[in-house]
Amino acid sequence: MSEFSLIEQYCQGIGVELEHTIVGVGDDAAVVQVPPEMQLVVSVDTMVEGVHFATDVRPEDLAYKLLAVNLSDMAAMGAEPKWVTLALTLPSENAAWLRAFSQSLNSAASHAGVQLIGGDTTKGPLCLSMQIMGLCPIGKVIYRSGSQTGEDVWVSNTVGDAALALQVTKGEISLDKSASDHVLRALHRPMPQVALGMALRGIATAALDISDGLLADLAHIAERSAVSLQVDQSLVPVSSIYKYYLSNGGDYTLALSGGDDYQLGFTADSADRQRINDLAELLCVPLTRIGQVIEQQASPIVLLDGGKSVKLDPDLGFQHFN
Ligand code: ADP
Ligand code: MG
Repeated sequence: MSEFSLIEQYCQGIGVELEHTIVGVGDDAAVVQVPPEMQLVVSVDTMVEGVHFATDVRPEDLAYKLLAVNLSDMAAMGAEPKWVTLALTLPSENAAWLRAFSQSLNSAASHAGVQLIGGDTTKGPLCLSMQIMGLCPIGKVIYRSGSQTGEDVWVSNTVGDAALALQVTKGEISLDKSASDHVLRALHRPMPQVALGMALRGIATAALDISDGLLADLAHIAERSAVSLQVDQSLVPVSSIYKYYLSNGGDYTLALSGGDDYQLGFTADSADRQRINDLAELLCVPLTRIGQVIEQQASPIVLLDGGKSVKLDPDLGFQHFN
């Protein structure tokens, strides 16, 4: 199959048709119209076989996750995702693989309201790279740098299940079938918090998505905002499966330092607690207060357990950002 027919067959018409798209797939470059009151927010994420995913991960899961991790970056900025481009490096022209990949990408992109407007297709070791572009009203983008002493630290939904799933796939932890199916879903089908990110415009003083681990990522907010974040691990929201794991000898390490959950961590003024609780109810996304922004200390993160200070384990994954 030539590169041309491959693109024709699998990369056209993916996602929704947007009114601000002037030219999509088919020309040398895509053209989009950015409305005058909006800023364009751009990010790219790459997934390499053997580094970011195992060889046996299904193409439909890869397509979903590639889009999800990109949507999550838009969520973290408070941007509305609009367009994606896709750089595909494939070892061979495997039609069954491409069909499964493109069908899954189409349904996930349609669901998210984004449009695939271009890309590149090359031969080589399996590597998937997606760029995403979103819109946010001028001045409303949420950065990592806005946290101030005295504010609350929040996290969406629960953390730790994707890291539990990785342990399950490595055979380090065993769970019954329904529990392992549930955590594997968290790993392969994370739910980016796009609606939440947009709703947090004007409320969150800083935000990011948790891809590398809760503490490691919150440390980025601390550093960019020149503060420290005091987090109480007993307040960190975990699933009922994670609680079961805790009651069977597990600890908080995976919830604090495992990655891949794609929840949002953010800070906000304590006067906005009710607004945030209302948002949680409106969007049906649990939002949990896990700590406070404090004056900058030697460590970007100060960990407590039930109010008592805890020595930070060097394995918690953020020390190298010091
Ligand atoms: P060029 O050689 O000018 O870079 P290509 O032949 O690579 O163009 O691509 C032709 C068209 O197909 C372009 O509009 C490009 O954006 C699109 N395209 C190529 N690969 C992909 C892909 N994997 N996903 C989406 N669009 C693609
Ligand atoms: Mg090309």
